[in-house]
Amino acid sequence: MKPGGTARLLVAAVAGALVLGLTACTGDDARGTAATTVDGLPITHFASGLKANAPKPDLNVTNLSGDDSDKVATATIADVEDYWSDRLPDDFGIRFEPVTRLLSYESNGPNQKNACGDTRRNVNAFYCGRDDSVSWDRGVLLPNMIQQFGPLSVVTVLAHEFGHAVQFRLRDKAGISGNTPTIVKEQQADCFAGNYFRWVVEGKSRYFAVSTSDGLNAALSSLFLVRDSAGTSATDSQAHGTAFDRIFAFQLGFEKSPKDCAALTLATIQPRLTERPFDPTDRNKGDVPINDATISALQASLNDSFAGAKVPAPSIVATGGRCPDSPSTPPASYCPASNTVSIDLRTLAALGRPVDQEAEFNGEDSGGHGDFAALSEVASRYALGIERGVGASLTNPNAGLRTACLVGAWAAATSKSTRDLRLSAGDLDEAISDLLRPESLIASDVNGRRVDAGFTRVEAMRIGYLQGSGPCSTQYG
Ligand SMILES: [Zn+2]
Repeated sequence: MKPGGTARLLVAAVAGALVLGLTACTGDDARGTAATTVDGLPITHFASGLKANAPKPDLNVTNLSGDDSDKVATATIADVEDYWSDRLPDDFGIRFEPVTRLLSYESNGPNQKNACGDTRRNVNAFYCGRDDSVSWDRGVLLPNMIQQFGPLSVVTVLAHEFGHAVQFRLRDKAGISGNTPTIVKEQQADCFAGNYFRWVVEGKSRYFAVSTSDGLNAALSSLFLVRDSAGTSATDSQAHGTAFDRIFAFQLGFEKSPKDCAALTLATIQPRLTERPFDPTDRNKGDVPINDATISALQASLNDSFAGAKVPAPSIVATGGRCPDSPSTPPASYCPASNTVSIDLRTLAALGRPVDQEAEFNGEDSGGHGDFAALSEVASRYALGIERGVGASLTNPNAGLRTACLVGAWAAATSKSTRDLRLSAGDLDEAISDLLRPESLIASDVNGRRVDAGFTRVEAMRIGYLQGSGPCSTQYG
């Protein structure tokens, strides 16, 4: 968040729009389909990853080893080749041609070359158009990713890289030319990866099984890991997108088709891209400490944003994060009896410490999840107070998703605010980082019960952010 700025009133239209659709039309018997599905598919629970009976990939890979990274990498390449062998003829009318060269290397080992340069110290996985090759670092990158997020992180990254090989084949069918901005190519590749994952989730893969709960959570977490640093401009020649933007494209592919991915252009993606440089007046690079002053600013921001609901505003009180007489969800709890949000400031301050992205990438202690993670947790408990005020259920199956949606709507309102608290570059990704934590409060109901699918939780916040509060009650009644 960005502190400071003149304390002018928030534009009334923003405050009004934020609660316009929030009506009391829900009861505990509401049919909550949103909470029990991932884009129409059931929420499933099983160990995701390489199938025990997966075939041995028949691929020619330079410098291949027998280690786990190479096992997952080769299975992924063989699998995405299966997938594209169907999709390219069916959707685009062209025959699939495998990539010319596959290379496994160790960024911390002997140098290997491909047409795009040396592999030494290149902690990466990439497609090189000059020799139509896909390469991956089995020395550092892949083992790190497997250690942090499991093998599906490798599948996510390589399915994305293979998407670039597909663009190379589609060319004008995907609107790709020499001057296509990087961000468009990246959004298409994330979208292709999302559609491939749909195919796997539907049980069509010979190599992998992916559940819609932990399995897809791992895929989204790995997209989060490879996001651009906060403050990158979307027009940067190397821009790949924020986690918010990347997950949007992945989810689009999951919900639609490769044709929809290929149709993405700068004009269609630009209005929703959230990647932007830091405001020049933002001396803290988007991070404020979570202390009494920040909580006061948060209270004012929430009061403003939800004023249109015309219900008593919950008070945020530093009373330890627990309710004296009702279920508690520390470090922040909504207490209906007193219409207060009880917070444990110390725990929230630790959660809100800035993210050390390099440490995070290396699987080390990366500090906290950023200020907006902590503020969003508190905002979610406040939103429950507003929901209660308008008579919505705080415990029905969709209550958690409705709450995440309202947090998204609030985040959008703060981005337009001239108040003390404003959304800064990187904030939305901090909320996503929190949403993907198993213990996150943002998408949970008053008892802390949340939907198992991170996919659905992130989607709910994104819908609120991009569309305002209207869909929060219509889609998550
Ligand atoms: Zn890429």
